[in-house]
Amino acid sequence: MKKLLNTLTIKEAHKGLVSKKFSSVDLTKACLDQIKSLDKKINAFITVTEDLALEQAKKVDKKIKSGGKLKPLEGIPMALKDNILVKDAKCTAGSKILENYIASYDATVVKKLKEAGAVILGKTNLDEFAMGSSTESSYFGSTKNPIDTKKVPGGSSGGSVAAVASDMCFYALGSETGGSVRQPASLCGVIGMKPSYGRVSRYGLMAMASSLDQISPTTKTVEDLRMVLDCIMGVDKKDSTTVDLKEEKPKKKSIKGMKIGVPKEYFIKGMDKEVEKRVREGIKKLEKLGAKMVDISLPHTEYALAVYYIVMPSEVSSNLSRYDGIRYGFTTVSKAKNLMDVYFETRRQGFGDEARRRIMLGTYALSSGYYDAYYKKAQQVRTLIKNDFDKAFTKVDCIVTPTSPTVAWDIGEKFDDPLTMYLSDIYTVSANIAGIPGISVPCGEAHNLPVGLQLLGKQFDEETILNVASEYEEYK
Ligand code: GLN
Repeated sequence: MKKLLNTLTIKEAHKGLVSKKFSSVDLTKACLDQIKSLDKKINAFITVTEDLALEQAKKVDKKIKSGGKLKPLEGIPMALKDNILVKDAKCTAGSKILENYIASYDATVVKKLKEAGAVILGKTNLDEFAMGSSTESSYFGSTKNPIDTKKVPGGSSGGSVAAVASDMCFYALGSETGGSVRQPASLCGVIGMKPSYGRVSRYGLMAMASSLDQISPTTKTVEDLRMVLDCIMGVDKKDSTTVDLKEEKPKKKSIKGMKIGVPKEYFIKGMDKEVEKRVREGIKKLEKLGAKMVDISLPHTEYALAVYYIVMPSEVSSNLSRYDGIRYGFTTVSKAKNLMDVYFETRRQGFGDEARRRIMLGTYALSSGYYDAYYKKAQQVRTLIKNDFDKAFTKVDCIVTPTSPTVAWDIGEKFDDPLTMYLSDIYTVSANIAGIPGISVPCGEAHNLPVGLQLLGKQFDEETILNVASEYEEYK
């Protein structure tokens, strides 16, 4: 049977465009049709930019007609999490406070994608301001898992990942602060990667926690992911945390003879037994491919979530102070008695529960008298967590772990229990804390739902984990 155009990989779609089997408008229409027929059920998109997409696709088709050489992502439809700015398009961050906000400039990644000829289909749903693990805290309703619509897709980039998993687009960008692309990728059965801190510019990404945030791609194959990362990475004058590492790009290594660390702290009690089985099978597969497994210890892992839930809300409380009812979006100014009233009422009515919870926690942790006890202490333990990884990487080339302790859960199941919800990030937050890259690849099913295997690498060594992931993916 002929494959539907929207189900192709980026590579296959590129080939088809080059050989003129179909046009970019055909690809774009196939995705738009899929969105129209399915998105009422999935709710992956907040905004569909149909006109912009078709306009970009037509431009590419013109170039193909005139014999121009196509770049890898040229003419391929994609989607962006709704906290990444596209000039003149709505950007809501999944919040009432930005319900009608129109972006006034392009994020650096968007600028790069436009230069690469990408076709932007629209903006995808997310937990409010990327705070959450299930995409249920969005002001625009929850996104459903395409594999089973009674289940959550994971989060906070649930819209981006669900759009890829249901073939509404070929790839998408999300953002990660503590696992928001790897965890949903694991729960929806696709690829998700958080690049190293400093690899991709965050200019034009709405800041959540600046020392942890990183724009992160999700795709159907590892090969596709490499192409997307190649396009969006690199130094940017507008983000001082980005680094230029072109010359240092590590050589392509084969998995054969590689040492892969298995940290004992990542196979713990609360983990679903079936998930553990799939991950152990995945590890066997890596061994069959010629890697040597090495038992390692990352002793400070047990403090990772505690560190994350001090550092992240502290930075959230500072970053979200800009939404004050004066500068952006929703405001209560016309009904307010005085300036304080504008601030209080706008933020009380504009932010949802989770955002308010984190702003309060963070404000508390940073307040005078508590700063040393909480924020400073958390930063010190953060260094210990980073040291654990540095030490491990003197012995192994990369590390293998589960991505998530469970498969996708029922919608509503954990929504009123923030602590249980926070636990679902237990295997992903450390990579954000340490600034290292991580990728999640599908490794079978448990309870009829996808399971993800995570590979972690040295900071700026995306190459090694991409190679391992790609050999793993190709192994039958
Ligand atoms: N789920 C985590 C949180 O709620 C991570 C969020 C993210 O990576 N944006 O903070």
